[in-house]
Amino acid sequence: MAGFQVAIDGPAGSGKSTISKLIADRLKMTHIDTGAMYRAVTLIAIERQIDLNDESQYLFLESIRISYHDDHIYVDNRNVEEEIRTKEVTKNVSLVSSFPYVRRKMVELQKMAAEAGDVVMDGRDIGTVVMPNAQVKVFLTAKVEERAKRRHREKLEKGHDVNLEKIVEELVTRDIKDSTRKESPLKKADDAIEIDTTHLTIDQTVEKIIGLIRSAKGEL
Ligand code: C5P
Repeated sequence: MAGFQVAIDGPAGSGKSTISKLIADRLKMTHIDTGAMYRAVTLIAIERQIDLNDESQYLFLESIRISYHDDHIYVDNRNVEEEIRTKEVTKNVSLVSSFPYVRRKMVELQKMAAEAGDVVMDGRDIGTVVMPNAQVKVFLTAKVEERAKRRHREKLEKGHDVNLEKIVEELVTRDIKDSTRKESPLKKADDAIEIDTTHLTIDQTVEKIIGLIRSAKGEL
């Protein structure tokens, strides 16, 4: 039987992964970043130089193993955590994740992971498709300018040379593609609680969600 499930969805740069990881660490749950899985598929597709627009060329997914554990993403035994954050992967991931075949393969893996214990899973379709019965569903949002500022700060801290306007552009383009695709688009589940983090710190957001979890568990 499934354990306790927390689904965290939201647009690009809303802080889903950072916040999910902190919650999972605090509550000794397993964190799964599903965006990292779609990024890994994109990385391998680019490395294999397939035609990214041709869904039939993604059959390579039958012969590789994508897994997420201890906050790192692996393709077979290769840790690709760094490589999946490049500009080229970010630019193409919304296209790759729009193919029904790719989604079916990833959702299969995610559903299996969701059954394995207490999980905090973050993505775009977790509350709607992957864990429709999750006990807690959160939809994290923030104004695009704020999301871009956070991303910008992160990149600068890592020593990357980035332009704020370009980040705004990239986030807006990705949000449009992710929320208008046919197959399981980015969408708030009807029973998800929306939290706007524009004026909240990471800690405040974590506390709010932990409050929701405790209350769902009957601890409050
Ligand atoms: O969360 P992150 O920004 O790393 O996700 C990268 C991309 O992966 C998203 O822009 C979206 O295209 C795709 N994605 C998805 N479904 C999920 C998680 C991510 O389609 N559950």
